[in-house]
Amino acid sequence: MFKTIKEILRTGDATVKYPFAPLERPEHARGKPEHDAVACIGCSACAAVCPPNAIQMVTDVQEGTITWSINYGRCIFCGRCEEVCPTSAIGLSAEFELAVMSKDDLEETCTYRLRACAECGEYYAAAKEVDYATRLLTQFQDDEEAARAAALTRVCPACKQKADAYRAKARDELTGGERPPMTTNAAPVPATMGGAQ
Ligand code: SF4
Ligand code: SF4
Repeated sequence: MFKTIKEILRTGDATVKYPFAPLERPEHARGKPEHDAVACIGCSACAAVCPPNAIQMVTDVQEGTITWSINYGRCIFCGRCEEVCPTSAIGLSAEFELAVMSKDDLEETCTYRLRACAECGEYYAAAKEVDYATRLLTQFQDDEEAARAAALTRVCPACKQKADAYRAKARDELTGGERPPMTTNAAPVPATMGGAQ
């Protein structure tokens, strides 16, 4: 008996008083993802990588909107959404007490406007995402390719493909079908391996 009491005193508390006292959390504990609706551009990157599909994007072409949603009941706190978000609009917090009385309270949604293509009028991406891409590309003012890409953010991928095809055709008509030689940093292939002599 004396030995047992001595062991208990030596070990100290083996349990914690939570929930009657606050729980001390480890420094890098992963809790509820916090979403910043203003910083979010509706790019869908987080939804694409979310393993349990806790984050979803639903497009409504009738309304011209895209809705971002998260279901905290499905979240496994892996942090993939935080890793891929280009604007740091989502990140894991220390919050872990997520109990609710109704399942509906585990969901959050944000709705954004879609941008219509300047050529065909079809919706093709969240307006905030298009503006973000345009802003990034216009930073490279001296880069002809970036300037062209910035101008093409106004159109959908299908119209962009058409524009590329017209551009290639016009270039072929100018050059008679001859393409400029490809530049490469690779070392020349030795003649013994079939390279130029
Ligand atoms: S932490 Fe993981 S599971 Fe939770 S929303 Fe982000 S990607 Fe999905
Ligand atoms: S990755 Fe970031 S910006 Fe893109 S939809 Fe998710 S939270 Fe929004």
